[in-house]
Amino acid sequence: MQYFDFKNLTESDYYDRLEGAELEAFQTERFREMLCYVAEHSPYYSRVFKAVGFNPDEFRQLTDLRKLPFTDKEQLQKYNNDFLNVPIREVAEYVTTSGTLGDPVRLMLTERDLLRLGYNEARGLSIAGVDAGDIVQITTTLDRRFMAGLAYYLGCRLIGAATIRVGVGAPQLQWDTIREMNPTAIIGVPSFIVKLIEYARETGIEPDNTSVKKIICIGEPIREDNLEWNKVGQYIRSQWQVELFSTYASTEIATAFTECPYGQGGHQLNELIFTEVIDEEGNPVEDGCTGELVVTTLGMEGMPLIRFRTGDLVRKYNQPCACGRNSARLGPLVGRKGQLIKFKGTTIYPSAIQQIMDHLPEVETYVIEAVQNQFGEDHIQILLAVKGDKDTIVNILKNQCRSHLRVTPEFLFRDASYINHLRNRPEMRKPVIFIDNRMK
Ligand SMILES: [Zn+2]
Repeated sequence: MQYFDFKNLTESDYYDRLEGAELEAFQTERFREMLCYVAEHSPYYSRVFKAVGFNPDEFRQLTDLRKLPFTDKEQLQKYNNDFLNVPIREVAEYVTTSGTLGDPVRLMLTERDLLRLGYNEARGLSIAGVDAGDIVQITTTLDRRFMAGLAYYLGCRLIGAATIRVGVGAPQLQWDTIREMNPTAIIGVPSFIVKLIEYARETGIEPDNTSVKKIICIGEPIREDNLEWNKVGQYIRSQWQVELFSTYASTEIATAFTECPYGQGGHQLNELIFTEVIDEEGNPVEDGCTGELVVTTLGMEGMPLIRFRTGDLVRKYNQPCACGRNSARLGPLVGRKGQLIKFKGTTIYPSAIQQIMDHLPEVETYVIEAVQNQFGEDHIQILLAVKGDKDTIVNILKNQCRSHLRVTPEFLFRDASYINHLRNRPEMRKPVIFIDNRMK
């Protein structure tokens, strides 16, 4: 594989400026390079290429990629070892996916992949305006086999920004750290940022009187499908005078899509990833239309993936961005394939219900459950515990569901301890908010 200097950020914005025929030539070359590499080194892909009669040397243009089958999560899970392109002793880091949609999947990274991971995050954070003068408080875990926390840390190292690894939870420690160490940026999950704000309100801390100027939001959307702020985004902005940025990534793809200050979707890093957005039949959707994100990771050494179906439903925008970059952008995660619920004639993603539930402070805790009724139809029930008058709160929730989703799920009151038991599973890094009990 062609040597790529993952320690050098200077002039990396060259890749953001590529467009038209120049971009296509660049991506074709990088794609072919990956195909030749995996054909030689990956037991899985060499087998697959042989089975379909594909020769990487014949890859001339990007449309040739349609000759290649997709890779999905099940294959990555089932043939995990066969995806490794290096001898096992060259593995430097083992990580797993969060397992939101089934069993966690193992990924193996080499030393060079770790450099790539750091470079990737440095590029993303730079797009959000983080530079060597920043002090970044990381409120996610670096442990528990989690890749993202490591990526933020390595990215900051490469940029030259200082890091403070506070980790998950502990609002008091987070605010103490903000007071004592004056971070300029925070990386965190939006629902946790909301918790931090609530904690500040309860304890008399004034968020605006702190050093924090930017929050990089991960893991959950802060924008609607149309790129306007969603409820959570609006709430954070109304409570804290900070610049908010969203970033999308997943463990398998080891590459981030981070927003610039214009907030028009997360910028694709052309030198690290090739993306397609496909419909149910596997055909490309129109620019700006919702489809499943399919990625090919470029420059990966340990476990590169070719045409990997992420299961994530997104929109991709190809027109140039106001920031001057020409790179394509991904809008917020619309939902995940397989989570779509057909309910009373409407199709709903659990994330849409989550947006409503997360915004009402009286809701203490909840889980969304999809079940099937005796006719085999999808049914949604929300198990919840509330603070205050149950009827009033359910009426508010029903009204909001009617206006935003056009239908109302069933609300069932349960003990908070029971719901939290459902939400918090030791093997999961994130709380389980959606439980799919429909027959597969
Ligand atoms: Zn931009």
